[in-house]
Amino acid sequence: MSVLVEVEHLTRAYGGVRALDDLSFTVDAGEWIAIMGPSGSGKTTLVNILGGLDAPTSGRVLVSGEDIGKMDEAGLTRYRAEKVGFVFQQYHLVPYLTALENVMLAQYFHSMTDEGEARQALERVGLGERATHLPSQMSGGEQQRVAIARALINHPKIILADEPTGNLDEANEHIVVNLLRELHTQGHTILLVTHDPTIGRLADRRIELAHGRLAQVTVYSADDQERVDHMLQQIWICGEEGTAPRIERIRTVGQFDPRRMLGRMADSGLVSVRDSEVALTPTGEARARDIVRRHRLAERLFTDTFRIDDPEAHTQACKFEHIISPELDERICTFLNHPKTCPHGNPIPPGECCGTKAKSH
Ligand code: ADP
Ligand code: MG
Repeated sequence: MSVLVEVEHLTRAYGGVRALDDLSFTVDAGEWIAIMGPSGSGKTTLVNILGGLDAPTSGRVLVSGEDIGKMDEAGLTRYRAEKVGFVFQQYHLVPYLTALENVMLAQYFHSMTDEGEARQALERVGLGERATHLPSQMSGGEQQRVAIARALINHPKIILADEPTGNLDEANEHIVVNLLRELHTQGHTILLVTHDPTIGRLADRRIELAHGRLAQVTVYSADDQERVDHMLQQIWICGEEGTAPRIERIRTVGQFDPRRMLGRMADSGLVSVRDSEVALTPTGEARARDIVRRHRLAERLFTDTFRIDDPEAHTQACKFEHIISPELDERICTFLNHPKTCPHGNPIPPGECCGTKAKSH
């Protein structure tokens, strides 16, 4: 996967207010990113800058390697028409034009109008029958689907959607979300602003803003979480063995490109990647340590207490390590009398409970 969007130290100030404050992240081609965060956290400002509707105070945005801040007015107009499809909370349809004409209007700004293509776009959003209706004759959900057809008409690289379901009832929200999901499956890159955690969870990643800064970048699904843990474990073990954790040595579970996964982990501050070497950040190290500790404690528990043999103990530990809470971790450790090694002789990183024991003895 290639990087499509690079946001570098992006700041947008309105007088004294920093709507965006030194924001950096990247988006791969074909990714679906949910942008979340409380009202006023800078989501719309970010989308507007990505779409070339607003300019940064400092920092830059590269799309396919091109700095959109360096484009002149004509370049920006072309960028907006050819590379970006906008979907807003308000549908922004022209009230006296039919659904078909609204879509064709977007074609007109691009280059040439093509009625057949516009009709197809409406069919794609399930509105083939509504082509001659005016916006006032359509429901909110239908109007939003016309807006999506309009956004798609010029085959944009990026779809920017700012709370597209904000004004919709549940049934229409469902239709619009499914449409976005389909577009994602077809390979479109989507940046979606939403308040709804359920919608956010459908995305590949969630970027959470607070006061214009990145509060959190989450690698979202539970499967992804396990992949991340698995990779952190490998990097930790390289450290124990004293070997360099090179990218090509690190494996992922399933058919995931380790480089892409490591890129995400770098975005969320768990690792740093330089040339082809990976290093754990302090946050990544703490998490790797926890997961290795849980895995080895679980192996001890299965082997010593439940008399389960390898490799079953290892397999079970791989599942168990993801579900042990910090409290349970300490209880198991105490129950096992704070073991120092796993059944294979590898060290179990001590927890806080082990420290107390050392002091009291
Ligand atoms: P969100 O979409 O997350 O609700 P916005 O990006 O709209 O947040 O706004 C972020 C901050 O920037 C807010 O404090 C808002 O008041 C301020 N802001 C946004 N646009 C303007 C503007 N045109 N002039 C002055 N302040 C603005
Ligand atoms: Mg907003």
